[in-house]
Formats: sequence, C-alpha cells, structure tokens
Amino acid sequence: MRHVGVLALQGDYAEHIAMLELNDATVSEIRMPKQLDDVDGLIIPGGESTTIVQLIDIYGFRDKLVSMANSGFPIWGTCAGMIVMADELTDDRPDPLKLMRIKVSRNAFGRQIDSFEEDLIFKGIDGNFPAVFIRAPIVIETSPEVEILSLVKQKTEMPVAVKQDNLLATSFHPELTNDSRIHKYFLSMIG
Ligand code: GLN
Repeated sequence: MRHVGVLALQGDYAEHIAMLELNDATVSEIRMPKQLDDVDGLIIPGGESTTIVQLIDIYGFRDKLVSMANSGFPIWGTCAGMIVMADELTDDRPDPLKLMRIKVSRNAFGRQIDSFEEDLIFKGIDGNFPAVFIRAPIVIETSPEVEILSLVKQKTEMPVAVKQDNLLATSFHPELTNDSRIHKYFLSMIG
C-alpha cells in the first residue's frame, strides 16, 4: 500500500488525509523532517504560504525537501503548497523552496473573486473537474520542462495545474470536493 505523508504544519491537511484514506492509502501527518524517510510521497496543503514556509524553516525541512524533490520523490502542492514549491514569486514573501521551474503570483484573482468554483479540463482526467479556488495563486511563467495540465477561464487563461516529472502543483483544492480523481492521479505518480 502506498504510504503518503501530508505536511501538517499549518493549513487544511486534515481534508487531504481524509481524501487519501478514502482511497485506501496509508497516511501520516508529517511534523518533523525525519518522518519523511517513512513515506513514498508528500502533499503540501493549502493554507497561508508565508506561515508554512516559516515553519518549514523553523523545523529544518528546507534542505531535505529540496534534495528529495531533486532525487525523484513525489510532491504535490495545493494552493499555498503551489506557492511553496515555486521557483519565483511576484511577491517578496515568502522565500519559496524553488522545487519547480514556475513563477507564481499569489492571490491572483483579486479581492472581488476571493473564492469561486470552475469546472476545469485537466489533462489525464476524463470529463470536467470541479475546482475550488480560495484566494488562489496562478502560474504566470513556466520553463519547457513543466507540463501544463489545466488552464482556468476565470479572469484569464492561465495555468492552474502543472507537473514537472515527480512534482505536481494545483492552484485549487481537490481535497475540498467529493471528487478524488486528482488524489488518485497523485497516487499513481507514487506508483
Ligand atoms: N492566499 C494564500 C497564500 O498566499 C493561499 C490560499 C490557500 O491556500 N487557499 O498563501
């Protein structure tokens, strides 16, 4: 059985855990870097990216996550998790982990549309996916090694799901729906 870690420093990790358990994965809350040695993949949840990065640095996760990501360990970031994984942000804060060759803009939909839902086309998944966006980021630049899996129509046709080998990032929150297809997609990346 696949053993998935969910970074449980801040944010909506409990919803990811529930979704993974519904899909027969073994799940562990990750609160210390050494716990990463026991899992086959990691989800970085939505929440507040500045707080998550601050806690990543306080608990000493940064170097280990960078080296694991570079050696093929599967990581999926949702919303704030996407911001954490980016190479570069349009904001000064936080200082992201630079795991994926993407440039990300935080809170990209502005105040008026803090939250919305949109049915997305997601490469590799049949039919539409009901995506929930909450003060969501958007990908504004990608390098050639990054595959764009989904574009949002709201406001602008920008990428909201991207994959680079073992790394996946989504602007939206599949863990807040009843649809576990993107969790299954990530589980298949774990193998
Ligand atoms: N706006 C948040 C940030 O910049 C992300 C929001 C979320 O994860 N739902 O960190």
